[in-house]
Amino acid sequence: MLKEYKKLKLIKKTGKKSLSIIKVKKLEIGGDKIILIAGPCAIESEKQLDKIAKELSKSGVKLLRGGAYKPRTNPYDFQGLGEKGLKILKKIADKYGMATVTEVMDTKDVELVSKYADILQIGTRNMQNFALLKAVGKTKKPILLKRGMGSTIEEFLSSAEYIMKEGNSNVILCERGIRTFEDNTRNTLSLATVPTVKTLSHLPIIVDPSHSTGEVELITPMSKAAIACGADGLMIEVHTNPKHALSDGYQSILPKEFKNLTEEIKPIIKAVNKTLQ
Ligand code: PEP
Ligand code: MN
Repeated sequence: MLKEYKKLKLIKKTGKKSLSIIKVKKLEIGGDKIILIAGPCAIESEKQLDKIAKELSKSGVKLLRGGAYKPRTNPYDFQGLGEKGLKILKKIADKYGMATVTEVMDTKDVELVSKYADILQIGTRNMQNFALLKAVGKTKKPILLKRGMGSTIEEFLSSAEYIMKEGNSNVILCERGIRTFEDNTRNTLSLATVPTVKTLSHLPIIVDPSHSTGEVELITPMSKAAIACGADGLMIEVHTNPKHALSDGYQSILPKEFKNLTEEIKPIIKAVNKTLQ
């Protein structure tokens, strides 16, 4: 099945190598800890992010997400605030003592995004942008690598290898769903990827139930399932006013729904012998 896997070196789980734990400020991603990453799809304004982060910090979120460079299908849709958005993200995260993750879409922005963010996100559409993978591989920042929506597990792991080959071993994988014939959900969440990656690689893997389902009702059940099958964490889109969100409002949950989700996953986290950080 995995034809080229034997050529990969750095991502491989070998007998001697223990599971990687990626450090982000005081947080640890991997091992026996569960990380919750939450925030809006896009940073829209300081007021918007402050409102959301305030609620999320009350729910114990320590890693704030939000896009400043948005990969939109439609060129007329909101493209993100760029550097202004990065500044807002840093300011608000500092206010609530959170770490941050945000997407970098272009090699020319890697340095700038690295100045403001704690984790650089490579989005699904750029999973095989090899120039970008090499560029983030040259930084010392942890990288959140999202699975390409049309990529196999082997291609996903090969992209992680590209980053590691440049010297950056701080890679966190993220399963965010793949394109199939099923159009009832935005994508098809391939949960089998999680235990598969766990047998093949020492890298941590989290699940994004928001982009993989595109349905608010499915986010809590798939979050529970993700933890149950071994995911190291979740990344979830949260907005205080989903109807008026500038991006992905239809799949964004309210802060109070997110709080309920954190309660509902607690028994699952306990059952897999992990702790929520
Ligand atoms: C995102 O997380 O903001 C995003 C655009 O996700 P994906 O690249 O998985 O579509
Ligand atoms: Mn989104």
